[in-house]
Amino acid sequence: MNKKLYVISGSSGVGKGTVLKEFLKQNPDFMLSISCTTRAPREGEIDGVNYFFMTKDDFKNCIDNDKFLEWAEFAGNFYGTKKKFINQCLADGKNIILEIDTQGALQVKKQMPEAVLIFICPPSLEALENRLRGRHTEDESAIQKRLEAVKEELARAENFDYKIVNDDLKRAVCELEMIISEEQKKC
Ligand code: 5GP
Repeated sequence: MNKKLYVISGSSGVGKGTVLKEFLKQNPDFMLSISCTTRAPREGEIDGVNYFFMTKDDFKNCIDNDKFLEWAEFAGNFYGTKKKFINQCLADGKNIILEIDTQGALQVKKQMPEAVLIFICPPSLEALENRLRGRHTEDESAIQKRLEAVKEELARAENFDYKIVNDDLKRAVCELEMIISEEQKKC
């Protein structure tokens, strides 16, 4: 059976990480890709587990040497997915999930049209802002940058294969499971 690549995007603070964590708990045969970033680690984040943390110079080097399947600048930091990491996972026969921004998602779709793009929407912009502030992981200027990115993200989401509104965690996880299970049948 062919293995599939799924891309999950959603505005910062929408809760996509929580939806994914629940999905992965119940579906341990799916592998979550580990991205590279130039952002500083948050408290508790571990290099090689949450991200591969890199300097801007190293990141630019990887761009110049065509190491990324996709990359993007998001809210002042660079993020990217290494080709080698994805190719290795697919060669190992794993279904893989990328949790990346919408710019990167559309780059993946261009290169791998069989990739399935899923966008997680907030119930409202107000709810999103409250969530982003409530998690206390960013300072005010970083929050403002993330809120500015929301409109662009929602516009790009029009080109995604599926959208899920995260107004209820259980329901959102259920919807994600249904979408992925239908897509797996097409493999
Ligand atoms: P955070 O800094 O909150 O961990 O992530 C910020 C944004 O970057 C999120 O929308 C996240 O999905 C996105 N992101 C994480 N890894 C990647 C990646 O490898 N490529 C791209 N394009 N975006 C990423």
